[in-house]
Amino acid sequence: MTHPSDLVGCRFRAVQHAAHPEIGPSEAGQARAQRIDAAIAAVYALLPQSRSIGDRTYFNRVSAAHSYFETLEAIAAGDTLITDAMLEWGDFEIEVDILVAFDGGYLPIMISNHRAARVAPGRATPYLAVPRLGLGGVLTGEFKIRHHALDTYRLALAGRALSEMDLSCGYGATIGQDRTRAFLEPLAPLDEALDRALVVPTPTGPRRVKECDSCRFWSLCSSALEAADDISLLLPGDRANPYRDKGITTVQGLIDADLGEVSLLASAFRSGHIVVPRGALHAPRFDVELFIDLEAYLDQGVYLWGVYDGSAYHAFTAWSLSSESDAFFDFWSFVTSARSEALASGKTFGAFCYSNHGENHWLRRSVARFGTPELAAEVEEFIGSDYWIDVFRLVKSQLIGPFGLGLKVVAPAAGYSYGGDIDGESSVNLFLEAAAGSDVAREELLRYNEDDCRATEAVRTWLETSAGFGNAN
Ligand code: SF4
Repeated sequence: MTHPSDLVGCRFRAVQHAAHPEIGPSEAGQARAQRIDAAIAAVYALLPQSRSIGDRTYFNRVSAAHSYFETLEAIAAGDTLITDAMLEWGDFEIEVDILVAFDGGYLPIMISNHRAARVAPGRATPYLAVPRLGLGGVLTGEFKIRHHALDTYRLALAGRALSEMDLSCGYGATIGQDRTRAFLEPLAPLDEALDRALVVPTPTGPRRVKECDSCRFWSLCSSALEAADDISLLLPGDRANPYRDKGITTVQGLIDADLGEVSLLASAFRSGHIVVPRGALHAPRFDVELFIDLEAYLDQGVYLWGVYDGSAYHAFTAWSLSSESDAFFDFWSFVTSARSEALASGKTFGAFCYSNHGENHWLRRSVARFGTPELAAEVEEFIGSDYWIDVFRLVKSQLIGPFGLGLKVVAPAAGYSYGGDIDGESSVNLFLEAAAGSDVAREELLRYNEDDCRATEAVRTWLETSAGFGNAN
C-alpha cells in the first residue's frame, strides 16, 4: 500500500521503503511519531463520549483501531464519531484521526503538530469546537487557515475515499496546535494540490535533500551518491539544477568546469576543507559583550533566553510557558542594564547572536504579547542598532563552506568543541521532558544553549583575531 507521506518531500523514500522494509524509523522519526501520538491523545481526551437517552444511544463514539474493516463497520452502524479510522483509495491507505458524521456524510479530521490556523482579524473562518465534535454546530472565528502538504494530501485522499462511498460532505478539517478547534475547509482546492502531487514521477535514484539528515535510508543513499560523485552531495535540493541544466552532474564536473566560487566550493568539498576564507577575516570587539541564543518550543513560545558575557553564562528560563513573560522581562532587563551601565561608564557595548532571524522574531513577538508600545519601540530600536550584531552575516560575507555555514559547522572549524550532540529536533522532545519536571532534560537544554552562546563567541573571536585566515580547515 502507499501512504500519503510518500507524496511529501523525497519521493525516493517510498522506493527505499519498498526495497528495505527491514530498516526501521530513525531516532528523529520515532521522536516525531511520539509527538504526534501525544497530540492525538490530547485531542482524544477532549472529545465527547457516547451519549444516550434511556436505552437509546443518540451519539456513539467508537475506535476503529486503525482497521479499514472496522471503519467500514462503524460507518455502516451509523456511529457518530470514529477515532483511529482507516480509509483506502486506490493504492493509498489513509489514517484518519477522526471521522465525524457531518452534513449527511462524514467529515475527515486530521490532527497535526503544525499550527492549523493563525489569528487574522477581520476574517471569518469556520471551525468546530473539539469538545462538541458531532454535537455542536459550526462556529466562525477570526483565523486564516495555514496549509501543510501532508495534512492537505491526507484530507484530499480521505475525501476521495469517502466520495467513492458517497459519504463525502465536501469538507475536511485539521486540528493543529490549538487542540480545541477543528478548522474546516472545502476539499475541492485540496484535491487540485493532490492531483499535482500524484503526477510527479517516481525518481530512479537518490538525490540529497534536507530531509536526508534524519532519514532512515541515508546510509544506503549516501553510498550510492558517493559512488556516483553526485553533485547533490555538495548542492542539495534544487541548488544543483542550473548546473545539471549545463550537463554537470558530478562534484568533479563542477571542479573541472572552473565556474568561480561554486567550483572553489567543490574543490574544498573534495579536499575536506570545512570553510575557505574569501579574504582577510574581521569582526568587531567591544568592552562589554553579550552572546545570545534562545530556545523556543515549536512556534508556541520561548522557554530559554541564554546569554554568555565572556566569562559566565546566564539563563532566563520558562520551563512552563505560562512563565514565559517573566523570563523575557528578566532577559531584556539584563541586556538593557548591561548596555546602560557600559555606556554610562564610557565603555563600548555589543550583543551578538548567530543568525538573528529567530531572535528578532521572538523579541518582537514577546514584546507584542507581553510588553507595552513603548517597550516594543525600545526593542525595535535595539534590533535596528549597531549594538546588535549577527555573526552569521559576518561569516557569510567572509567565508565559503561546502558543508554549509551553520554554527555547528563553523564553530568547530573555529576551534570550538561542542559538549553534546543535541539537535533542534531532539531539543523539542527534551523540552517536553523538561516541562514535565525532568532536571536531567533541563540541564541538557541549558548545556545545549550555553554551547551555542559560547560557540558564537568563539566564531566571533576567530574572525576578529584573523586566526582563521590561511588556517581554515
Ligand atoms: S536518504 Fe535522502 S535521498 Fe535517500 S530516501 Fe532518504 S531523503 Fe530520500
